[in-house]
Amino acid sequence: MKKNDWILIILVAAVAGIFLAVLLLRPEEAVRQVEISVDGELYGRYDLNEDQEISINKTNKVQISEGTAKMTWAECPDQICVHHKEISRTGESIICLPNKIVVSIIGGDATDGGISPDAVSN
Ligand SMILES: [Zn+2]
Repeated sequence: MKKNDWILIILVAAVAGIFLAVLLLRPEEAVRQVEISVDGELYGRYDLNEDQEISINKTNKVQISEGTAKMTWAECPDQICVHHKEISRTGESIICLPNKIVVSIIGGDATDGGISPDAVSN
């Protein structure tokens, strides 16, 4: 083996190590979820890392895209929820008062007592 080959191997190993360290240091990224409740009742929990669109009782639509959630459509008169900026951090929420819908980000720093995967539903 030439000297340059060893340098390459060490470089690749270093990059792989940094990549692994970043993954290990950010476990909260994997568990953050979007929690939706209607009239105080849990409607569903959705993975924030999974792009999807959620229809809520045919009155509201929430879109999860690239780690953020936003209300894309609502039939409420004020449209405040639709104009709310997208949310991505634990504790942030979008509220649709007329429809009593709350969309919030949970998990990550365990502020609400953790995640229950069993509660995920459509
Ligand atoms: Zn609304």
